[in-house]
Amino acid sequence: MRKKFVAGNWKMYKTTAEALEFAASFKALYRNTGAEAGICAPFTQLAALKEALAGTDIKLGAQNVHFEEKGAYTGEISVTMLREIGVDYTIVGHSERREYFAETDETVNKKLHKLYEHGILPILCVGENLAQRDAGTAEAVVGTQLEKDLAGLGAVQVKLLVIAYEPIWAIGTGRTATPDQAQEMCAFIRRTVASLYDADTADKLRVQFGGSVKPENAAEILSKADVDGALVGGASLVPEDLIKIIEFQGGQI
Ligand code: 13P
Repeated sequence: MRKKFVAGNWKMYKTTAEALEFAASFKALYRNTGAEAGICAPFTQLAALKEALAGTDIKLGAQNVHFEEKGAYTGEISVTMLREIGVDYTIVGHSERREYFAETDETVNKKLHKLYEHGILPILCVGENLAQRDAGTAEAVVGTQLEKDLAGLGAVQVKLLVIAYEPIWAIGTGRTATPDQAQEMCAFIRRTVASLYDADTADKLRVQFGGSVKPENAAEILSKADVDGALVGGASLVPEDLIKIIEFQGGQI
């Protein structure tokens, strides 16, 4: 039985003061519905949020990490640094990092290995762009990402993994995938993991959908059988909106 998981991805939004204001409102509205809830915040807000969310079961996530343990990597953040703060999850391979910061499947793969070494769970993002979807190669693109990104990971690790299917054409565009498109690709991701590993691993793995998820469309997308939650960008900046999305998600599947 997979526990549903809705995580906010704040991207490069919110100062510490704004994050604390969000946390106060969010905590006041939040109730555990049986689904897992989390916030992936900018690095500089993580420590303050960890303290603000103490005593709740709301998970904390980072948005990136470096793949080396430590070293002369100016501007980078290590897994040990995230561990010290107590983050639960880290997003890896978001399409914005792949597009603007030269993230590749090779670096994504190294990051996944490093995170598992230190007990932080990855939220691995995959997804095709519009040209690839229009050309009919969306499944091939996502399949290749999965093969490369998961290389060398064991079934025990992949069972704990969260994969976010985020079609690039639906991110921040207001144009979302139809619930059937979301279901089809999330099911394809599970089938691919079944072929790379086994049926049990694929059954345990959680697959989120991301791309313009908001209170108005959450229920329909998230009721699909292979959609185990959402990675929410814009709507996660507003406590009331993120709460509405989490509450559509109550219970187990
Ligand atoms: P939006 O919900 O703003 O489209 O962003 C989706 C996303 O990229 C989450 O990681």
